[in-house]
Amino acid sequence: MKISFNKPYFTGKETKYIEDGVKSGKISGNGKYTKLCHHFFKENYGFDSLLTTSCTDALEMAALLLDINPGDEIIVPSYTFVSSALPFVMRGAKLVFVDSRKDHPGLDESQLYSLISNKTKAIVVVHYAGVACNMDEISHIAKTSNIRIIEDAAHSIDSYFITKSGRYLPLGSIGDFGTFSFHETKNIISGEGGMLVINERKFRKRAEIIWEKGTNRSAFFRGEIDKYGWVDIGSSFLPSEIIAAFLFAQLEELKKIQRRRTELWERYYTALEFLEKRGIAKRPTIPKYATNNGHLFYLLFHEEHKRDFMIRSLKKMGVHSVFHYLSLHKSKYYSSKHDGRDLPMADFYSKNLLRLPLYVELKNTEVDYVVDSIYKTIKSI
Ligand SMILES: *Cc1c(COP(=O)(O)O)cnc(C)c1O
Repeated sequence: MKISFNKPYFTGKETKYIEDGVKSGKISGNGKYTKLCHHFFKENYGFDSLLTTSCTDALEMAALLLDINPGDEIIVPSYTFVSSALPFVMRGAKLVFVDSRKDHPGLDESQLYSLISNKTKAIVVVHYAGVACNMDEISHIAKTSNIRIIEDAAHSIDSYFITKSGRYLPLGSIGDFGTFSFHETKNIISGEGGMLVINERKFRKRAEIIWEKGTNRSAFFRGEIDKYGWVDIGSSFLPSEIIAAFLFAQLEELKKIQRRRTELWERYYTALEFLEKRGIAKRPTIPKYATNNGHLFYLLFHEEHKRDFMIRSLKKMGVHSVFHYLSLHKSKYYSSKHDGRDLPMADFYSKNLLRLPLYVELKNTEVDYVVDSIYKTIKSI
């Protein structure tokens, strides 16, 4: 059997909607399908959103909206994808890396106070694997320290933070901004693609201007002003209608996609208990305040050489499993920007985390084959 790590899922309506968009004669941005997507997110999650060409772009918009300048400090987890940090370095900010939690790759909120200075402008919160960080705590810390929160919710579509009083808040709706990715490796896809969610009301008007190259064109098209002009900085952040049409086809099937992904996740979780019993690896922890959206299934090995042995062994049996992030503070570019503190948990996840195949069209029998291959491997470890 050959099992790839990821396989993009197509609902079948993508090309139909793209064709419809093309036939309508309008394929640049902010047309019918962009509006349908914005409306979908408003209806289902209460988001005030702007589609972007990537999550990276959405993060760049957030950096522009917050007027990040040289001298500002931004707190970013070390265990994340590079885009969580990139837009802020590009604005000349100083990065302050925060370590991960012991029980979960998400950031350790108990370290935040010691990292905040009077130069700290914002904190980037990454909900790893779509599992919420402790947003009650983080929101409290940000509020008392007067700093902004950007949720990098690239993994987190349709996942929630559960408040102390039992309310379910969609990830991406809690900080000042939420950023999403529709890259083909995520749950909902458009090839490349993303979205900025603007929760803090005062940024909404300017967000639309920055989105459209620093012009007030969106207000002009709504008939609110007579002519549009060059009113601010910005860039070309909005995607074409072709991307939006593709994305809308995906959104229509969102519930089905999420259901299947979480089903597969649960199947792995139940079947892999033996790894814990044998003291080889741990399964993911979902804190009480978080939901699971089946974005990815990972194992935490107790020893790096066993993780690496597992990758090689699974490969021989036709199963493609992969490690994840190499922490930023140890990387070629970002290590020179780091203040030198040890970040042992970021190192731990870089060395010991293994991700298993998980995608809508993965069959139960294939999950069982992966589990069986893992079982056979640990007998020879
Ligand atoms: C995928 C990802 C991104 C980048 O998304 P793009 O849409 O490819 O720009 C950013 N942050 C995290 C945590 C990601 O996983």
